[in-house]
This record gives sequence, structure tokens and C-alpha cells, in this order.
Amino acid sequence: MTLGLREFHPFEAAGRRYLYLVPSAAVFALDDCSEAILHELRGGPQPLAHLTTTLTGRFDALEVTDTIAELQRVRALAEVTGRPPAPMPKIVPLRPVPLQTLVVNVTNQCNLACTYCYEYGEDKIVDTTNGLQPKFMSEETARDSVEFALRESRENTHAHITFFGGETLMNFPVLKSTIAYARRRAAEVGKEIDFSLTTNATLLQPDVIEFLATERVGVTISIDGPEEMQDKFRVFNNGQGSYAMAAPKIKALLQRHRTRPVGARVTLTRQTLDVKRIYDHLTHELGFWEVGFAPVTTAPGRDYAIADAGFDHLLEQFRALAADYLEASLQNRHHGFSNVRETLQEIHQGHAKAYPCGAGIGLMGVSTDGRVALCHRFAGSDDHGLGTVKDGVSWEKQQAFLDTHHIANKTDCATCWARPICAGGCYHEANTRYGTTQSPNLHYCDWIRGWTHTCLEIYGELAARNPGFLAQFDDEPTEKIS
Ligand code: SF4
Ligand code: SF4
Repeated sequence: MTLGLREFHPFEAAGRRYLYLVPSAAVFALDDCSEAILHELRGGPQPLAHLTTTLTGRFDALEVTDTIAELQRVRALAEVTGRPPAPMPKIVPLRPVPLQTLVVNVTNQCNLACTYCYEYGEDKIVDTTNGLQPKFMSEETARDSVEFALRESRENTHAHITFFGGETLMNFPVLKSTIAYARRRAAEVGKEIDFSLTTNATLLQPDVIEFLATERVGVTISIDGPEEMQDKFRVFNNGQGSYAMAAPKIKALLQRHRTRPVGARVTLTRQTLDVKRIYDHLTHELGFWEVGFAPVTTAPGRDYAIADAGFDHLLEQFRALAADYLEASLQNRHHGFSNVRETLQEIHQGHAKAYPCGAGIGLMGVSTDGRVALCHRFAGSDDHGLGTVKDGVSWEKQQAFLDTHHIANKTDCATCWARPICAGGCYHEANTRYGTTQSPNLHYCDWIRGWTHTCLEIYGELAARNPGFLAQFDDEPTEKIS
């Protein structure tokens, strides 16, 4: 038998060498013997007998044999047969997958006019201004959405609804009555249900805050940082910035809403890339528990789009903040940089993703007229529709989507070591950049690989120096909303 190396990405942490094994998405710590075996094979495949003889002088024969078997088991080594390598396996679900999160767009209206907004800005894919879609979801459609979420959660005992917009709180009356209805219906069918929403915070009146706190609604605030950064793009129709109105309301919310941690979600643009300053302001000065950052989704050429050099700068900034996260985590202190937490969770759970996110599978979005699409960003788009909350979704359409969007179809990703985590990236971003959801997001590969490498290093440090910290990542996450 001749053995050769398979796909892995090496990294070092805490003075040890590790492999991130691409076929199995597992992290493997190397010892001297496994490292020596990999070193021997770096020049090309070798017959097993030759490999064993070469290393037996340095290591015990049994140790060499056992280590080779272990490396084969974790798929770091494989038999070289001379035949062309097998194509990436394409395994798609054979029956409907339970819905974990339904994102309900209760309105497509907004009291802000953020320049970069994917719903209203220059890159929108659904025209919500043509009067064909209701501006506000009716109580009846919201109730149908609840029934849909409970039904489609199938054998799961838990359902989750996220309210979204437009500006979600512009339809607070429907949101409020829907939560009451959903709690009653969930109890009747013997399920648990919980709720979250995303808001720009400008409509957080005292009665709204009271409701969110007592109903334990998870809240994410869209905010871009301190006043000068927030007011660059997050503006009212008359161009006036929104910070002065949002900040006191956020403080009031954070003071009252203690039942669930409140997070901030930041859109990064070419002009607002100071990650550390934004993080410090949002956590230390405003008091957010967690902050997540996402580069703006836009076609290239917009003056707020992040260009190549911007991604390098962004990576540096992320790395600096990630170092703070590591330091805090080694001492079991909380740090709220949620991008690290989410990637560590993915590494820890070791899923080799066939799809970048749950869109169209565990996550779906509903438009104000009750149409169901891949996710909230496609809500109302006929091209990306799956059905309606009233009549249900078409499993044939879902299957066709899963078939055409599987990572095995993305030939550019076939040799990329980061594919178990990235799987080609956001469909909405791909649609905006390349005009099709099927395209991988090749404009940010260096950034994804650089960031994944950093998170692997953090994972390795924690595994070696504070392994108990990683136990928190054992649970399955709820689908995140970006
Ligand atoms: S989009 Fe780029 S980084 Fe992501 S899996 Fe494909 S090749 Fe890798
Ligand atoms: S990553 Fe993109 S496609 Fe997936 S749920 Fe988020 S916005 Fe939708």
C-alpha cells in the first residue's frame, strides 16, 4: 500500500502543531511521531513498508503503526491508488428538514434611509416601493406565519421566530399580538417557542422596552458605532444622523432588559473600519453584551464598498480584537466579540458544511404578504420563493435549491481548505456581486481564509490552555441572522 497526504490546513497554537482536517472538519493535535510521518510524506506518497522502516529507528514500531492508522482514520492520510481522486460527495437531504428559525418581515417600511441598505439602497433585489406588497404585515398573515413555523418545525420540540423589517418596531401592534398568539398556540401543540427581533432602536419607547423585557424577546440593535460613524450612513430621510435619537433609547433598553443579553450588529463600510473603536464604544460606553460585525453587502464600485486593501485592514483589526477575546477567555472572563464565538462554535462542532447557512433549509424568510423565501433578505422575491405561509412550501423547490447550491457544485471551492466553514458564503451577497445565488463569493476568499486561520489558532490555544472553556460550544446554535 502507498500512502499520501490528504487535505488539511496546518496551524500552530500554544507551542503545538495542529491540523485542520478538511474532509472531516476536525482539529487534530500532532505529537512527535505524527509530525514525523507527515514530514516524511511531504515530498510525495511513499509505500507503507518504506515509511514504517524509515521511522522505526526514531520511534517504537508499534507507535509508528498505530499513529499511521490514526492518521488514516482521521483522514489526514489516504491510500494512493493511481486512480483520479473521487469527486466531493454530494449528499442532499432526502426529506424536509425541520425549520429552526422563521424570520418574519412584519413591515418593509423604515424610518431611516441608510445609504447601503440592501432593502432600500442601490443594491435592492426586491422592490418594496411599488405598492404591490403591503407595507405592513396583517395580523392574519402574522398568525399564518406562526402556524407555519410550528408546523414546519416538525419533530423539533422548539420553534423560533425572529421579527424583522424594514424597521421592525413600525409594526409593533402586530408584533405584540403575534407573540401572545404564538405562545398560546405553541402551548396547545406542546412546543416551546421563543422570539427575537432586530431594530434600529429609534422607536424603543418605554412601553416597547417594557414589553420586550417582560416577554423575554431577544434583541439585536443595528448600530454602526459612535456618533460620527453611525451618522455616516444610518440617517433619516432628511439626511440627519440617527445616533442622537438611538443612543439614549439603547441605554434605557439595556438598563431594563435583563432577561436576555442584548447584542449589537454593525455594518462595516470602507469609511467605518475602526473595529476596536466601534467595539469599545458599543460595549464599554453603551453597555452591549455582544457585538457582531459584517462587511457591507454591495456590488463593487459603490463608494462604501470595502476594496481588497480594506479587507486586509479589516483582518488586522479583527485579529487585534480576537487577541483580546482570547486573553479574556483564558481567564474565563466574558468578551463580546461574537464573530469569534460563532466561528469557534463551528470549529468545535466540526460540521463540514455543504451549505453556507441555513437559508432555505433550517431558516426561511416571510414577506409582508406571506410569501416564503430563502431568508429575510430574499423575502418577497419571486425568483427565490419557496411558497407561502398559508399553503406551505414546495419540497420540490427546496430540493432543487439544495441540489444546485451544494458545495460540490462550486468548483472554485473544491481545493479550498476553508470550505467546511465557508461553503461559498452568503447567497444574497453572491446574488448582489455576481447576479446569481449559485456563485461562491470569490472576492473575499483571502479574508475568509485569514479569519478562519486566526480562529483556529484561538481554538488551539484554548484547547491546550483552558479546554473547559470550549464546553459551552457543545450545544447546537440557533441560526444566526445577518
Ligand atoms: S468562497 Fe472562497 S473561501 Fe469560501 S470556500 Fe469558496 S474558495 Fe474557499
Ligand atoms: S448568510 Fe446570506 S443567504 Fe444566508 S441567511 Fe444570512 S443573508 Fe440569508
